[in-house]
Amino acid sequence: VTDYDVVIVGGRPAGSTLAARLGARGHRVLLVDRASFPSQPSVPSSPVIYPSAMKLLDELGIDEASYAGASFTTFSFQLGHYFDTVIPVPEMFGRAYVYGIDRHHFDEVLWRNVSRFGTVEQRQGFAVGDLLRDDEGRVTGVIGRERGGVDQRITARCVIGADGRFSLIARKAGARVVEEETECVSTVYFAEWEGVAPFREGVQGAHIHATGRGLDVLFFPMPGDRWSVNTHHRADRVVTEGDPMAYYMSVIASQPDVARRLSGARRISPLVGLKRVGNGYRESSGPGWALVGDAVHYKDPVDGQGIYDALVEARVLAGALDSWLTGKQGWAEAMRDYQQGMHAETHPMYLETMGRLRRELYEEPPPIIARTLIRWMMTDPAYQKRFLQFLGRELPAKGWLSKRLVGGAILRGIGRDLSGRSARMGAPEPAGPPALR
Ligand SMILES: Cc1cc2nc3c(=O)[nH]c(=O)nc-3n(C[C@H](O)[C@H](O)[C@H](O)COP(=O)(O)OP(=O)(O)OC[C@H]3O[C@@H](n4cnc5c(N)ncnc54)[C@H](O)[C@@H]3O)c2cc1C
Repeated sequence: VTDYDVVIVGGRPAGSTLAARLGARGHRVLLVDRASFPSQPSVPSSPVIYPSAMKLLDELGIDEASYAGASFTTFSFQLGHYFDTVIPVPEMFGRAYVYGIDRHHFDEVLWRNVSRFGTVEQRQGFAVGDLLRDDEGRVTGVIGRERGGVDQRITARCVIGADGRFSLIARKAGARVVEEETECVSTVYFAEWEGVAPFREGVQGAHIHATGRGLDVLFFPMPGDRWSVNTHHRADRVVTEGDPMAYYMSVIASQPDVARRLSGARRISPLVGLKRVGNGYRESSGPGWALVGDAVHYKDPVDGQGIYDALVEARVLAGALDSWLTGKQGWAEAMRDYQQGMHAETHPMYLETMGRLRRELYEEPPPIIARTLIRWMMTDPAYQKRFLQFLGRELPAKGWLSKRLVGGAILRGIGRDLSGRSARMGAPEPAGPPALR
């Protein structure tokens, strides 16, 4: 007899919601995390969640008021000197706003929610260091310890790695990387600020300052009038020379519209970041183990899908584990269903995100294209709505951008130009390159 049915290593979005779903079905679960709560995730994260993630939290009975962040209803998009536009957030799954959450608080809400389930035990400050295996090599538990304590051997029918993109469980289990994008990758840095000037008078939502030259700067509202200010730069052009803060401030200074917003502002958090952010998938399971959340699928943060993906993968895995634990399916069959379901939920979006990295950081549109095609599309209300519905997972990632939508946006853009209704065409082309290199 094992100590538990399932040991879950990692107690943030993936692990804590998987534990809740298994607890709701009465399974004996141990959820451990080496961190104590509340705390920031050790891999830093920006704060955006869409209604898609909120809907999955509704399913878990987690009250929105308990995690609500700074809600916002617009994304301002600016492409260099060429044009800018304010995109309203359409209603998605019954909500027409996006949150900038505080991960410190949000992750604690998810962790605490688990305590409602009598069959789930939680240990924080408990670091897993290795896996137990039987004679056939099947994973049968974990070895871990409390801070300052001695090694404990804990047995379970299976072990789940919900331990993030640098997953120890993946490494110990020997999970291979099965898909990876290594060429078009970004490096990100960010910090929280207060006293940030509005993008434009009366416009308060998120602001994406794209240069079309390998660099974006993103502003996200956070609770308490704070802002998360992120640099998202093609990795091969990031030169920090050992001083990331000097680099971050030089990027800000290089973009007049960004510098203006921060000229009277104060940085109130340390600078954090991630170099060459990896993108890919690992094998999702093997004998006695499975991976969920960033441990199985990790990607660039530009589309803000990580938390949603972690929650949806946990939902699929909970269903598969329940089938196996209740004897409806064998392990191999249940894990095949998990792999297929997880892939179907996440892969089309992953391909879109990889396409965006390539197009928006690694390709540089000629000025004429920025002033015409891209402007016509990005300022078209029908395109804007579908773009956000796609990011908010209300539209399937595959096929959201139809030829009809592109053609219509271009025709409407030309029409607006001809009738003189196009707003904010931007300043004339500057003499030098518009962005930092
Ligand atoms: C720069 C950046 C910005 C991002 N911005 C966004 C965003 O705006 N919106 C969004 O939705 N997503 C964003 N993401 C992605 C998001 O942060 C992740 O997808 C999400 O946190 C994944 O959740 P998880 O539960 O899988 O793993 P994590 O949140 O990484 O949690 C893993 C947990 O496992 C624990 N752990 C690790 N090893 C052990 C061990 N050996 N023993 C015990 N415990 C262990 C850790 O302490 C940690 O608590 C961003 C990511 C990055 C890198």
